Amino acid sequence: MNQKRSKVAVIGAGIGGLATAIRLARLGIPVEVFEQAAYPGGKIREFRQAGFRFDKGPSLFTLPDLVDELLDDDLKFDYRKLEVITQYFFEDGTQLTAFADVDRFAEEVEQKTGIPVSGVLDYLKQAERIYQLTAPVFIFNAFHRLQKLLTWDNLKRLLQFFRLKAFSTLHQINVKAFPDSRLVQLFDRYATYNGSNPYRTPGTLSVISHLEHQLGAYFPKQGMYQIVDSLMEQAMRLGVQFHFSTPVSQLVVRSGQLTGIRVNGLERNFGLVVSDIDIHQFYSKLLPDKRRLEKIKRTEPSSSALIFYWGMKKRFPKLDLHNIFFSKNYKDEFACLFETKTISNDPTVYVFISSKEVKTDAPSGMENWFVMVNAPANVGQDWTSLKTEVRQSILTKLNRLLDEQLEAHILFEEVLDPVKIEDQTGSFQGAMYGPSSNSPFAAFNRHANFRRDLPGLYFVGGSVHPGGGIPLCLSSAKIVAEMVEEKMKR
Ligand SMILES: Cc1cc2nc3c(=O)[nH]c(=O)nc-3n(C[C@H](O)[C@H](O)[C@H](O)COP(=O)(O)OP(=O)(O)OC[C@H]3O[C@@H](n4cnc5c(N)ncnc54)[C@H](O)[C@@H]3O)c2cc1C
Repeated sequence: MNQKRSKVAVIGAGIGGLATAIRLARLGIPVEVFEQAAYPGGKIREFRQAGFRFDKGPSLFTLPDLVDELLDDDLKFDYRKLEVITQYFFEDGTQLTAFADVDRFAEEVEQKTGIPVSGVLDYLKQAERIYQLTAPVFIFNAFHRLQKLLTWDNLKRLLQFFRLKAFSTLHQINVKAFPDSRLVQLFDRYATYNGSNPYRTPGTLSVISHLEHQLGAYFPKQGMYQIVDSLMEQAMRLGVQFHFSTPVSQLVVRSGQLTGIRVNGLERNFGLVVSDIDIHQFYSKLLPDKRRLEKIKRTEPSSSALIFYWGMKKRFPKLDLHNIFFSKNYKDEFACLFETKTISNDPTVYVFISSKEVKTDAPSGMENWFVMVNAPANVGQDWTSLKTEVRQSILTKLNRLLDEQLEAHILFEEVLDPVKIEDQTGSFQGAMYGPSSNSPFAAFNRHANFRRDLPGLYFVGGSVHPGGGIPLCLSSAKIVAEMVEEKMKR
């Protein structure tokens, strides 16, 4: 790598951008990060109000090793493996505890649904097998580089992959595995972990249940934003320079060569540029490209979210860190999300209460509720009336299932909707996870981590390979850093 190439601009300080900055700085490359917002973290955010702290975006932490490996020993933070992953509430009154201990979880399922212990154990074993076959190819590999992909091991994996659940939907394989609609719904829900539709996403997504149940669900001692705080501290220790409130307006390409970026009306030269911004925004604003935009638009965006943050004046011992209140009609819920682009009148409600783990997140005797329903991508719906309707459906449902009158306990409320997600993070239509996986070919259609025709340009983050969610964004950073390192050695 020559001198001109030995400086990198990272566009966006989301988790993918921060991880890339750290990895490239460790290679001895000077790194500058340009972020349009006044703070780092992108979709991972927090806010404080009236003595409460809320994690505003992600709440579930899996594969923590991918964060650990970025941090010096003294910056590694404590996180706890959850003993109870989720409390599930069904409309028929069933309450089911998803214990982290797989045997205990299988026993709980047998007790509550009659499905024998072996049913859940066999399912999770199969999910583990699919993970072992798919993760090295689809998650931890620079998938679009043929010489990396076409190893003998990967070809064997790919051959087996096609024999595994790729052409059945997640819902179909769950119906086959479990003669109980509650359990089908519970395992269908994993499609939503990357914003997809279980009635269309391939059965291979059952790997997510393996991640959560067998590799574990965790929670940082000080909440999710601790991930961003620690990565920031590490990056600054390595000399990474941050420019906040500094949007990049353009990628500069001269005679087919990448030369840098445009910020604050000025051109800055960089031999390497890593984009952590939504790929749709990249090709609509920074490097306009109609053909590529058309291709991206052909892939359906993942779902978005409507979240109510409630400071609650009371504590609720029945609830845990993660709680799910399922809808009666899951199929209708997803038809609303992906076909009519609205929210059903009985949505599944997720209640996340970080103060169950981080006592300082709420004043004594109170709780911080993050109440979320999946929402369609923003295509100009009337969000004001949708918010009012959905808030009422949520309260009716939770009051009934918890035998409470929750309105009386809400001290204050903040709301996040798809429009705000789009405005604040640049995510196309407010999608939480970039493009959805609503087709067997989704993995093949994701944008690569590099451009063969523009050497020096790389892509990380949830809208490119391998996909959305913290672990996958961290994997994209690792893939890019490995490519840059290889290039330096040449
Ligand atoms: C509500 C919600 C809940 C979620 N829950 C989970 C969860 O529980 N677990 C999980 O693993 N994942 C979850 N996710 C997904 C996860 O948050 C994302 O996949 C991940 O954080 C995306 O990171 P990223 O690297 O793609 O960057 P992003 O977070 O998308 O950040 C991109 C950054 O680029 C900046 N930017 C955009 N344009 C420009 C420009 N022109 N110049 C400079 N900067 C620019 C933006 O301001 C932003 O800071 C959730 C997401 C949301 C929204």
